[in-house]
Amino acid sequence: MADTIAAIATAAGAGGVGIIRISGPDAELVLRRVAPGLPAVVESHRLTLARVVLAGQVVDQALVVLMRAPRSYTGEDVAEVHAHGGAVHLGRLLEGVLAAGARAAGPGEFTRRAFAAGRIDLTRAEAVADLVAAEGERAVRVAAAQLAGGLERRVRGLRAEVVALLAEVEATIDFPGEGLELIERGELSRRAGLVAAGARALAQSFRVGRVLRDGLEVALVGAPNAGKSSLLNALVGRERAVVSAEPGTTRDFVEARVSWAGAAVTLIDTPGEREVGGVEGRALELARVRAEQADVRVVVVDASAGAGGVGVGVGANRRQVTGDRGQAPGHEGGSGGSGGSGGGEGRAEVVVLNKCDVVGEAERALMRERVGAAVEVSALTGAGLGELVEAVLGAVGVAEGGGDETVVVTSARQAELLAGCAVAATAASEGAARGAHEELVAADLRAALVALSAVLGEGVGEDVIDAVFARFCIGK
Ligand code: GDP
Repeated sequence: MADTIAAIATAAGAGGVGIIRISGPDAELVLRRVAPGLPAVVESHRLTLARVVLAGQVVDQALVVLMRAPRSYTGEDVAEVHAHGGAVHLGRLLEGVLAAGARAAGPGEFTRRAFAAGRIDLTRAEAVADLVAAEGERAVRVAAAQLAGGLERRVRGLRAEVVALLAEVEATIDFPGEGLELIERGELSRRAGLVAAGARALAQSFRVGRVLRDGLEVALVGAPNAGKSSLLNALVGRERAVVSAEPGTTRDFVEARVSWAGAAVTLIDTPGEREVGGVEGRALELARVRAEQADVRVVVVDASAGAGGVGVGVGANRRQVTGDRGQAPGHEGGSGGSGGSGGGEGRAEVVVLNKCDVVGEAERALMRERVGAAVEVSALTGAGLGELVEAVLGAVGVAEGGGDETVVVTSARQAELLAGCAVAATAASEGAARGAHEELVAADLRAALVALSAVLGEGVGEDVIDAVFARFCIGK
């Protein structure tokens, strides 16, 4: 049987209340050692006021609770001490609890025990970590939905269908002489195809899930004086970057955090592109690296530079626009749009024509010809900023209010397995349609089944489970 573990369950630092959680067969025993005044019989799931005594000294008055197995988070006996907050105080209490017979819990060990006890599947366990780490409101919503079993239900639904299809196909294999086709091939193909489509849609939702989980880095790049700093300020809604009419005044890169469509976005302003040496050169180099690693690069072009003044800056921008993927994402706000630029591997790019307040339509048309699809904005008046936000989100496949947003895959592990399931189910569907041998169709369906089960954490190795729980914090 497992040993008894303990950890501080609340966040580090001072708080009104701090909770020490104890789980395992000796939870009650350990609790009684630190709260010796408890009555002989303690009702499960009921708070009791108790004195906490360490080394013969009363150190706190706390609410303690015992949640007896299996009705607890971990499925084991769980005891909690709701003590007064304070890092030093809680640290002392934890020491006392450990001295009373518990072992310090590792990262995610409580949740891991819940998973091992079958209290939650792996999608819910992963959602626990996501919820704790979530920074944007939408990330919180998605994690909460996943914790409530949204993704689990979808995956179980797909799995039930695969099991049903497999049963039909295997029955056909088992009774070959009778020549009965228990399920018509066209029907089998259609239903396997639906499973593939469902799994694929879930796998693709990771594009959104990744952004929600990790946030989005957006770098503003372009020629000096194009208006990058002004644009950053306009997007943030306050003075964050230094704006100056003198080219190249942004010496270092400036960051600002905003929330777009519920996703945490970090905007990065980079210095103008020009040759400088020394410390400034290094700062420039850092900024360039940073811009290259950003999820989206917003190429800011000064529309007022005009035909004659297009010169070096736009020439350089043009190279960037066409060099990466030969197509700028432009205005598409749809979740699937942007010419495949939101796949995650390549960096998405959005071109912006700034200072549109001072140029006429004829000039703009000329600029459009030069730079291709672009969002027209004015950092000065704020015109077009909404479209810019939409284009950036669209470029990474995140659109506001797009579809069933709460069932979203948030881990690469889940996405890979679901993509694998889609491939196998597609093979089964095509095999059934072309009249492939039942054994082959069954093999593909089994592969789909294994992938779906693995999403839920069934039949996966310890190494996979270790990796999932490695990103948890201690006490969860
Ligand atoms: P950066 O070097 O790319 O960061 O450019 P700045 O943001 O420092 O802007 C350079 C100059 O262009 C400043 O004088 C800004 O006031 C001006 N500017 C920036 N955006 C706009 C705009 O949309 N309209 C107009 N008229 N001027 C702008």
